Amino acid sequence: MKRIRVCIIGGGASGLGCARVLSSGEYNCEPTIFEQNSFIGGQWHYDSDGLSPTTAVYKNLKTNLPCSVMQFSDFPFTNIEPESYIGCKEVEEYLIAYADKFQLFKYIHLNTKVNSIDDTFTVTYTIRFNSKNELIHRPHQTLLEENENYAVYSEQFDAVCVANGHYSDTYMPNDIPGLNNQSFPIIHSRSYRDPDHYRDQCVIVVGASQSGVDICGELVSVAKQVILSMKEENNDLNFTIDCLRQSGKTLCTNYLSTNFSIVSPIERIDDDTVFFKNQTSIKPDLIIFATGYEYRMPFLQGKLQVDQTRLFQNRYLYPLYKQIFHANFPNGTLSFLTVPYRIVPFPLAEFQSHLIARVLCGKMSLPSQDEMICEIDNLSLPHNRTYHCMPQYSFDEIPQIEPRSRVAIVTGANEGIGKVTTRELVRKGWYVIVACRNAEKAQKAIDDIRREINMPDAPLDFIQLNLSSLMSVRKFVDEFHERQLPLHLLINNAGIFGSEFESSECGEELQFTTNHLGHFLLTNLLLNDLRACIPSRIVIVSSGAHLNAPNIEFDDQIRRQPHPTSNVAKFRAGLRGYSQSKLANVMMCTELAHRLGPESKVYCNTLHPGVVKSAIWNNLKWSGRLMRPFMRTVDNGAMTTLYVATHPDIENNNIRGTYFVPSKTLPPPYCRPAIGKTNPITNDREQCQRLWQLSQRLTNLTSTI
Ligand SMILES: Cc1cc2nc3c(=O)[nH]c(=O)nc-3n(C[C@H](O)[C@H](O)[C@H](O)COP(=O)(O)OP(=O)(O)OC[C@H]3O[C@@H](n4cnc5c(N)ncnc54)[C@H](O)[C@@H]3O)c2cc1C
Repeated sequence: MKRIRVCIIGGGASGLGCARVLSSGEYNCEPTIFEQNSFIGGQWHYDSDGLSPTTAVYKNLKTNLPCSVMQFSDFPFTNIEPESYIGCKEVEEYLIAYADKFQLFKYIHLNTKVNSIDDTFTVTYTIRFNSKNELIHRPHQTLLEENENYAVYSEQFDAVCVANGHYSDTYMPNDIPGLNNQSFPIIHSRSYRDPDHYRDQCVIVVGASQSGVDICGELVSVAKQVILSMKEENNDLNFTIDCLRQSGKTLCTNYLSTNFSIVSPIERIDDDTVFFKNQTSIKPDLIIFATGYEYRMPFLQGKLQVDQTRLFQNRYLYPLYKQIFHANFPNGTLSFLTVPYRIVPFPLAEFQSHLIARVLCGKMSLPSQDEMICEIDNLSLPHNRTYHCMPQYSFDEIPQIEPRSRVAIVTGANEGIGKVTTRELVRKGWYVIVACRNAEKAQKAIDDIRREINMPDAPLDFIQLNLSSLMSVRKFVDEFHERQLPLHLLINNAGIFGSEFESSECGEELQFTTNHLGHFLLTNLLLNDLRACIPSRIVIVSSGAHLNAPNIEFDDQIRRQPHPTSNVAKFRAGLRGYSQSKLANVMMCTELAHRLGPESKVYCNTLHPGVVKSAIWNNLKWSGRLMRPFMRTVDNGAMTTLYVATHPDIENNNIRGTYFVPSKTLPPPYCRPAIGKTNPITNDREQCQRLWQLSQRLTNLTSTI
């Protein structure tokens, strides 16, 4: 049977995914990719001089989706564990390996730009070459024009699939008086490559979407001044940052820098001066417009054309049915990949390609042209433009269980993320033991939670637990056992931070005792309960601070040494102790996962909740206050704990001994918790075993797993 010849325009991720699907043998299709560049991978090719009109990735760019989410279904990213967010070079290498693995190079024609397509699907394209010997002649092509640099051909196909990307044609505002007559340079974020190019300069970045915010974060460490001009008409930094947060933007700790400010939109430009709508002005060295992109498909002619000005504030390509099929071609012969904005591009391209192939092969049919147009005209899509993303992980995703059918213990459940964690577990049917020091505070938390979730008899129970006292830990476990309850989930959440040196009852430094030793003992004493209720989970709330600790101080004398007295040295020593206790949390998790073994149905994982506005910072007077606007809300902080505690992914993917982070930067995640980078020491089994033995000795634990 004659194969359906499909011309794919563009050799980026979408075009490659489509070629893979069409050539898989599942469909009677033969792909041909025309790619105007001399490389494949589209956007992911890093071009250091910033001159390429087709790529926009910059030197330090990290993906904003975890790679496990970005990847094609049949080709996982490899060798990048444990980090979820990777650089553009790794993505480009992945795409090349993908093309190689599925033998796609034979379908790809590089340096070949599609100029036009008519309604008989005759495609006209120009091939650039250094020497005519490079030309490979194709059976169906007709030569139209030729010289020593290029040749123009036409070739008829049965179908065309447009995969030309939509990050090439930049959008610049056209309503700023004086723009284009200014005396300083302006660029679009597409040409931004390396923060070093802007060292000691005063840079205005216009637009607080994904790229604008990310670029500001890079620039603040090198530029003299960075000014983010954004739409929110409010100059209060906290308010603006909250706005950014709520809309899910990334901000990094660099924003604490004093050379960064946020201003209102530009009103006008007068030669060397930019005037903002809030009556301020500045003489910048440069403006970077991070104002987004436009769709452009100049090669489509006649009835193939699409119109982006017709629907939804220029954000809908008319008339695309389901944003894939051109409604003028009801047999699906003209299709478009990854056009919508709110997407995860690689898997979407793959999924859409299956649909396209099914329609082309007659396995599926589209409605009539009139029916498609009618449906498109009656669409009611949201107006806002968003970038590729996944829906944020939210409390709604926590599985609802049979009320009181599962029991959890949450330490430090009376405030902060512990309280939110408890609230959300109870809301979804869990029976939760509130394990904390102060009975009065615990009762208040229980009352608050019951009121907040409107469940006056919500199954919450208090058992006193002071993690800095090993006696209290043992007493807690005895009391828990007296209740004869099962145990399905232990959340080691409580934690303290302190710069003053304090010793606990057992003679150890207080942070090490509370954050690690108390939890170590608690976990060991409850292990049999958890093993009796499989599948069960242990969640250890650690912190990104664990990355700062070089190792555990194994020498008892040095570890127990009081802090120096000067304020700065005291603070440093406190932080060192805190980081060490958090490193111990991760090492304990790794070691416990080893000891439980790969077949165990007790899943033990750890996490960094993000820098959260919680009581732990109360001891930090000035620095705590300074950091506050940049911290996550407690609700947001609890999301990572709840994900690790309840998400089916953990069991489905057999995840154990793993460290999760909320997202790549502060504040909130705009997708979902992902696997994070840990301190290399946590992979050193010998050190983890050594910590286990030390902890066993310090807690007088006679037997362990
Ligand atoms: C700064 C930035 C960060 C991003 N971060 C992420 C991320 O973290 N995760 C994620 O999943 N996605 C991210 N994306 C989105 C990214 O664009 C998609 O993941 C994906 O690479 C899009 O692939 P594509 O093939 O559709 O488009 P592109 O990669 O743009 O490829 C289109 C190809 O078509 C070619 N082409 C165009 N016109 C013609 C023509 N007339 N003839 C021949 N060839 C033509 C171009 O040369 C190009 O190679 C990011 C995008 C940008 C700009």
